[in-house]
Amino acid sequence: MIKDKIAAIVRTLPATTRLVAVSKYHPDEAILEAYDAGQRVFGESKVQELVGKHDRLPSDVEWHFIGHLQTNKVKYIVPFIALIHSIDSFKLLAEVDKQASKINRRVNCLLQLHVAQEESKFGFTPQECREMLAEGEWKQLRNVRICGVMGMATNTDDDEQIMHEFCLLSEFFKECQSTWFKEEDSFRELSMGMSDDYPLAVQAGSTLIRVGSSIFGERDYSR
Ligand SMILES: *Cc1c(COP(=O)(O)O)cnc(C)c1O
Repeated sequence: MIKDKIAAIVRTLPATTRLVAVSKYHPDEAILEAYDAGQRVFGESKVQELVGKHDRLPSDVEWHFIGHLQTNKVKYIVPFIALIHSIDSFKLLAEVDKQASKINRRVNCLLQLHVAQEESKFGFTPQECREMLAEGEWKQLRNVRICGVMGMATNTDDDEQIMHEFCLLSEFFKECQSTWFKEEDSFRELSMGMSDDYPLAVQAGSTLIRVGSSIFGERDYSR
């Protein structure tokens, strides 16, 4: 049961780590089952799917966007999104700011870092991210709030490599905190850890784990 799976995960988490239940490709009923068990934070990775679920499901769900976000779709989620985990360019951050300013919102965002060995994953390299932050233009963006960083480890059975990558993310997070966000209490989220690797992520200091299949089962991509 979804309820038991959530309870089993939450039980292992320190008070400083929250669970994002990744509900992408799963139907409303599955989300409602988790909701009835008290889960309020859900993660989605497709704009259209997210907008539909937001329209149909209870209004106190806290929706997080975790997938690759195209600039032309930003406007559809900006009115309600609680946190965008996947800011992977300054251009995208600027578009979120622009759309949010039209409706007088300030949207919480995480900078997505690429530390895994896979070629395909989106995100800034630490060096690109440093350059973007050092450049400083982001400070003019009044309608976004940079709340931390997000990343993924390589999909591998090698725990040492996974731990190494989570530590890279954690160190980069702390570097940003002490360099650019010293005065910002809201810069405090380190989003890392999925079904197969979240215990390691928690050890490395994750504040948001993004867990899908361990709660909802395998995804059916044909839906
Ligand atoms: C799908 C997805 C997850 C959840 O993955 P599981 O292995 O099902 O836990 C986490 N993070 C991101 C960015 C995802 O796209």
